[in-house]
Amino acid sequence: MKIRLASLKDGHNRWQESVSPDELDLEPSVYRHDVTIDLTADKRLGKVAVTISARSVGNFVCDRCGEDFQKELGGDCSVVFVQRDRPLPDEMPGDDMRSFLVGQDELDVTAEVLDALLLSVPMKLLCSEDCRGLCPGCGANLNLEPCRCPVHIDDH
Ligand SMILES: [Zn+2]
Ligand SMILES: [Zn+2]
Repeated sequence: MKIRLASLKDGHNRWQESVSPDELDLEPSVYRHDVTIDLTADKRLGKVAVTISARSVGNFVCDRCGEDFQKELGGDCSVVFVQRDRPLPDEMPGDDMRSFLVGQDELDVTAEVLDALLLSVPMKLLCSEDCRGLCPGCGANLNLEPCRCPVHIDDH
């Protein structure tokens, strides 16, 4: 995902793009929908401040019941590109502040798009907050069916 510097006017720019998961090297089994990206770029002398808001849908497996489910994902990320003669020695994609060189055509914001999207994936993936999971005895999916265990030790 790249921003062409020549396409930016001085001052405030705002636009939207849609990018395939493939183009972002996202895991194809999880990401099957395009990623919608809202961008703003504030271009001033020797400096471009970019904000990115990325949205898509992920296909996950519930940690509790094992069913497939879809979840909407979305988050923001921002980065400032500063024009320099050479990049800083320890600069990495995804840093808050990065360099671009005189004569450079494009700003690569792939790392920022991925950060915005992937940081919104919860640590615990549940099909719903109140997923009841599987019965450890009979394996019934308690969201869909009653437990089939013959004896309920706790029932007295
Ligand atoms: Zn579940
Ligand atoms: Zn059971």
